[in-house]
Amino acid sequence: MTCSPLRLKLDGDALVGNWHLLRDLSGGAACGAAVKADGYGLGAREVVRRLVEAGCRDFFVAVWSEARALADIGVSVSVLHGVRDADMADRPANARPVLDTVEQVRRWREAGGGACDVMVDTGMNRLGVAAEDVAAGLLDGLAIDTLMSHLACADEDVPLNAQQRAAFAGLRERTSAKRMSLANSAGIALGSDYAFDLTRPGIALYGGRQRAAHDGIRQVATPEAQILQRRRVRAGEIVGYNATFTAPAHMEVAVLNLGYADGYLRCFSGRGRARAGDAVLPVIGRVSMDLTAIAVDAAPGLAEGDWVAIDYALPETAALSGLSQYELLTGLGSRFERVWS
Ligand SMILES: *Cc1c(COP(=O)(O)O)cnc(C)c1O
Repeated sequence: MTCSPLRLKLDGDALVGNWHLLRDLSGGAACGAAVKADGYGLGAREVVRRLVEAGCRDFFVAVWSEARALADIGVSVSVLHGVRDADMADRPANARPVLDTVEQVRRWREAGGGACDVMVDTGMNRLGVAAEDVAAGLLDGLAIDTLMSHLACADEDVPLNAQQRAAFAGLRERTSAKRMSLANSAGIALGSDYAFDLTRPGIALYGGRQRAAHDGIRQVATPEAQILQRRRVRAGEIVGYNATFTAPAHMEVAVLNLGYADGYLRCFSGRGRARAGDAVLPVIGRVSMDLTAIAVDAAPGLAEGDWVAIDYALPETAALSGLSQYELLTGLGSRFERVWS
């Protein structure tokens, strides 16, 4: 039994509650889950296990190694980056590609077709075949489960959202696809006409909030770090690399087993906060690779070996750090022991 000095507390009830909320917002559409990047850093297998139990049936990963890692759970997985030649040989039975390019469509046809999904670009110019090519018959005869597109600005109120929705809806009768799917987390919050047959939330499952409809979304992941050393710093002394912090008065400092190598990046230097109970413990000086110093005068009882929680509510922490809510989660490193409750 290992016992890391760094752990990521993961709230399984909040995860499932968030999925229920997004499912309800999806109206009559099925609600899937994006679990790429190891479930946004939380651990894809643990996320999938909980969401399957809640009733989720459609999962999305980026690449085939992520699908293979879920193969034994037996859920339906769509691989968003489609198939290269190198992917064709080792594909788990429960996974299908999301074909993204004309070349991938050709490759899939030559291999005999079979169930697939297709991504069509409706204006983001990131990934997907052209809507005009689809309208011209590119996909005719393919056994498509889900035709997808992706919104570029779903977290903003811009005309492009409705334009993309209309372009996508225009393809409804144009393919053999059993289902249509457009909305990510923010897209779900745009209203029921964005839900089509299947929604694909990711960040909101894990505590991300981008729109008012996400207000009921709860935080899932909270980093906790153990105190490695507690020390007294005298007025005028400095703390940390490059002496960016000078103690204005005698103060108590704790040094945490947490640093930028864990994803707690240097933008939290002098800005981040830890908590012990109700006490707020500000980060002081520079975050280093494996260590972070906090002021602990507000928590006199804290000692070496005690644990503190790191403030990590996603919207607030994104605003504080300048990182996106996505980066905050996917950057969390492998030294965290992931502990579910
Ligand atoms: C990552 C991803 C999602 C999920 O997006 P969120 O913004 O995290 O909800 C949905 N669809 C596609 C194609 C994606 O790449």
